[in-house]
Amino acid sequence: MLSGTDMEEKFNELKLRLKEYNPSVDLRSIDKAWEFCKIAHTGQNRLTGDPYASHPLFSALILSEWKVDTDSIVAAFLHDTIEDGGAKREDIVKDFGEDVAALVDGVTKVSDIRLKQEKKDETLENLRKLLLVMAKDLRVVLVKLADRLHNMRTLYALPEDKQKLIARETLEIYAPLAERLGIGEVKGQLEDLAFRYVYPQEYEKILKDSETYYEKSEEVIKKMKKQLGRILKKNNVQAKIHARKKHYYSLWKKLERKEIQWDFTQIHDIVALRIITKDVSDCYLALGIVHKLYKPIPHLGVSDFIAQPKPNGYQSIHTKVFGPEGKPVEVQIRTQKMHEQADYGFAAHWAYSEAKKSGVKDEKLEKGVISDKKKIEWARELIRWQEQITDKDEFKKAVKFDALAHRIYVFTPKGDVYDLPADATPIDFAFAVHTDLGRYIKGAKVDGKIVALDHKLKSGDIVQILKNKKAKPTNRDWLGFVVTHSAKRGIWKYLNDKKNNY
Ligand code: MN
Repeated sequence: MLSGTDMEEKFNELKLRLKEYNPSVDLRSIDKAWEFCKIAHTGQNRLTGDPYASHPLFSALILSEWKVDTDSIVAAFLHDTIEDGGAKREDIVKDFGEDVAALVDGVTKVSDIRLKQEKKDETLENLRKLLLVMAKDLRVVLVKLADRLHNMRTLYALPEDKQKLIARETLEIYAPLAERLGIGEVKGQLEDLAFRYVYPQEYEKILKDSETYYEKSEEVIKKMKKQLGRILKKNNVQAKIHARKKHYYSLWKKLERKEIQWDFTQIHDIVALRIITKDVSDCYLALGIVHKLYKPIPHLGVSDFIAQPKPNGYQSIHTKVFGPEGKPVEVQIRTQKMHEQADYGFAAHWAYSEAKKSGVKDEKLEKGVISDKKKIEWARELIRWQEQITDKDEFKKAVKFDALAHRIYVFTPKGDVYDLPADATPIDFAFAVHTDLGRYIKGAKVDGKIVALDHKLKSGDIVQILKNKKAKPTNRDWLGFVVTHSAKRGIWKYLNDKKNNY
């Protein structure tokens, strides 16, 4: 169990780290946020037995690895203080300003998106998109991912049914989201943490079956590391070489593929070798040296994601070669910048803009973080990705009904998501929830406040239908403002429904 002293030590560690990557960090705000967090969660414990404040603290520590800005760290400290602690929104606005309060709101709203039971792919894609739409500010997604990562690391303390549900949610919503955002390292961690809870038997099996393969590969890699290190140096290529182990979940996914059929010998990247260079031209020099030393495997060849980056911004050269003793090995070559971006994706971009504001020279920034040009490219990719999903969804919906209308996403008070056309009203919502609910409508609340029945709903609204005790005929006037076919149909159907005794 963590003591108060342990936590203060961790907190000091965090401050040192923040200062290191962000010279302009506002440490006064960080101190204030930590105090605020401890007061709001006074007397609360996690199921692990640790003080509740340890959770926001560790979330902030995770975020600092991704080099985020001051506001994101502050938001991490405050992210549960309203929902689970004793704090009020006004207090956050007063002490930290509207920007931080908006980040906290975003995290809270995003947390309301819950996976209730197993859902179809289409629904999952909607949920992921919804999360992005809801988040509005991408920093919200980062705080949420850090929160989720820490919750996954402490999931052992939860009851079994909760473990399963949260792990599945992680696997189906948060890990793919991390991947889309190009935060590869986070995706891998989330998946591996969830794997054992969602597929316990498969997890055990892979652990056991892969052990010898991991060991063997590591030996081979060690030899290569030595040889390559020497020759790169001789050729004046400055490079760091390290091994990276394939995450268990992605290994399992690969083994399950039809063409692999659990044949470990077909997996060449169980342990891969990474060469991290100082600039792009050294990447190609290193590639030449690798191929001179080890023969490339015919047909599998080289993938140059530097010349042609992946849609999520990933850049690297991959080549498969015959290593020592003829063992196939994957070698990945990239610059330090590309390396950071592959692990932390657009997170790096926040560090860049914040440090730049503080007047840090560009050359210094270039070493650790992403360049301006890349930043723009990245933002563009993200927008393109969002557009793609929108088109796909629109198309599917258009084929059904409500053709080409723009969609909004609203919640029930329990957090279930409903996808409605723009300008939908509480009446549309009621008929979407249940064809019969429309006959019981007495009034409606949005985010806890009473609204008119022709109120236009917005994405993110929490909508509650206030019900009459008995069913009533529907109101003809409603036809003047509802937008969905199901509402129109329902209103007509029950307009003169005299069969029922009201
Ligand atoms: Mn939390």
